[in-house]
Amino acid sequence: MSTVIGIDLGTTNSCIAVVEGGQPTVVANRGGYKTTPSMLAITEAGKRLVGHIAKRQAVTNAEHTVYAAKRLIGRKWNSPQVQNAVANCSYRIVEGPHDDVRIQLRNKVYSVPEISAMILQEMKMIAEDFLDHEVEKAVITVPAYFNDAQRQATKDAGTIAGLDVIRIINEPTAAALAYGYTRKSDMTIAVYDLGGGTFDISILEISSAGVFKVISTAGDTYLGGEDFDLRILGWLVDNFSQEHGIDLREDRMALQRLKDAAEKAKCELSAMVETEVNLPFIISGERNEALHLQCVLTRSHLESLCDDLVQRTVETCKQTLDEAGLEKSEIDEVLLVGGMTRMPLVQQAVADFFEREPSKGVHPDEVVALGASVQGRSLIEENSHMILLDVTPHTLGIMVIGGYFEELIPLNTTVPTSSSKVFTTVRDNQTAVKILVMQGESRRAEENELLGEFILTGLRRARSGEVEIDVTFEINADGIVSVRAKDLETGMEQSITVTATSGLTEDEIKSMVAEARNFALTTREQEAAEGIKQEADKLIKQIEQLFPEVERVVAGSDFGRDAIGKAREVVKLSYSLVEKGDTDALAEQIDALSRTLRMFRGVVGKVG
Ligand code: AMP
Repeated sequence: MSTVIGIDLGTTNSCIAVVEGGQPTVVANRGGYKTTPSMLAITEAGKRLVGHIAKRQAVTNAEHTVYAAKRLIGRKWNSPQVQNAVANCSYRIVEGPHDDVRIQLRNKVYSVPEISAMILQEMKMIAEDFLDHEVEKAVITVPAYFNDAQRQATKDAGTIAGLDVIRIINEPTAAALAYGYTRKSDMTIAVYDLGGGTFDISILEISSAGVFKVISTAGDTYLGGEDFDLRILGWLVDNFSQEHGIDLREDRMALQRLKDAAEKAKCELSAMVETEVNLPFIISGERNEALHLQCVLTRSHLESLCDDLVQRTVETCKQTLDEAGLEKSEIDEVLLVGGMTRMPLVQQAVADFFEREPSKGVHPDEVVALGASVQGRSLIEENSHMILLDVTPHTLGIMVIGGYFEELIPLNTTVPTSSSKVFTTVRDNQTAVKILVMQGESRRAEENELLGEFILTGLRRARSGEVEIDVTFEINADGIVSVRAKDLETGMEQSITVTATSGLTEDEIKSMVAEARNFALTTREQEAAEGIKQEADKLIKQIEQLFPEVERVVAGSDFGRDAIGKAREVVKLSYSLVEKGDTDALAEQIDALSRTLRMFRGVVGKVG
């Protein structure tokens, strides 16, 4: 059976898991860390860096280091969230050709799915190193409240990374799977997931028979740890500006240092009641003198800076519980997911709201990837007893006359699902109808998100209201939407099917897939070449260390002189191949080096 990897593609960190011997296991990266920063950098020399190595150099290469790309994925250029990011990010966010968002690094402009793909590609390589074989199939998680465009863009990112994304699942649902797949009782759980960039709350029923049914879900795809960091950053910038009259936001390097310091202070304040923020030489003053930033932040001050953010999450919990039609007392367990749930204020707010202590049984950083791997396994297993029933987080419909929004699939409907409604023409002799596919909760269509549009043409000329058009919405198991329109009179079905786009065309995706594949091949080749060189270096050293002893043992014998001469030749040739970087020849030369070493060891009486 092939392996399916489960990937939690986080705003701040990503995590990967596989099911091995029936057990879901998180795979550590080469540095031994179980999570990898979702950061990408391009160095001055054009080298791509991903993960910890990108994070480490972020301050000195701030303009060309991307973090929190998930906050931008699948969004339109003009959205307030993107404009907010443009103002606050140290890297350059630019407008794309399809009203989408692009990121400029060095002299190249990248789409957001391309950036996410580079992170996914790194996660794929981590899994391949661990499993020692190639992997293709993946389940990737997204926030439950992601809309169609954000899901599609995430799927595209997977495709670009060379993955066959067999399912996109919601993060809180994945957490519930990891928590519940071994439990043998019926229960209702709430999953509160506050990560680096997004917030979700889901209420689920878990049955002992292995059915996981989401009852309701809600969230905010632009509320997470980044916002807490920005509150601290704003406070630091204001303090500095009052003292020195300088706006630190204008200096990209200072901004990146402030961002790091803000996050560090926030994390420290989860364990301590006060912490010092100390940034020497943050900027130069008017007379070119070095200025330093130094101040103390207390936990209670942090809480006052961020209280409204936490309250927003509590409001959403209330709304979700209402939509589920449940009382707090009917929730058997509350799971905390996401790094931000380590903040005492968050834990307290959740405990106060649900009137119970949250479960300590899950690891907030790993549980989502574990759940994704469990789901991946069940999708390829023939006799899997597990059934996952998720819901659509947004209402779907079309724009109708008067600018109103006509609902076809209400939010919190179990997916996959489909729904049809019959509409009629609104003008005499109308031969075409434009279908505007929308997602949102407002009665006014313009306040909702436009997913796509298409025109059904060739309608019979008739009086208004006579020609009937059937509109069918479908949501597949990935939560991705498609829409069809059919002229009921002629039976003619419009061939255009609308699905949201990630802002990339098919051709763009194809060429990005090819580029990513080349990169992966080159990286693997470089790694293989490095491995061969290291092996050759090791053998050369071991042989060189034995020369004096071999010379002593065989002193005076013709055979010995001969053998030593040949060994010197082998070593000399190996050195020249290492220098030339001729990997193929060096790989063959390793045989000769190994034989020489064996022979030397035999001569001096050493074994192994
Ligand atoms: P995630 O997206 O789940 O990886 O969560 C990342 C977010 O959790 C980031 O904003 C981190 O700063 C935040 N975080 C991680 N550890 C802590 C901590 N000990 N206290 C507060 N926030 C934390």
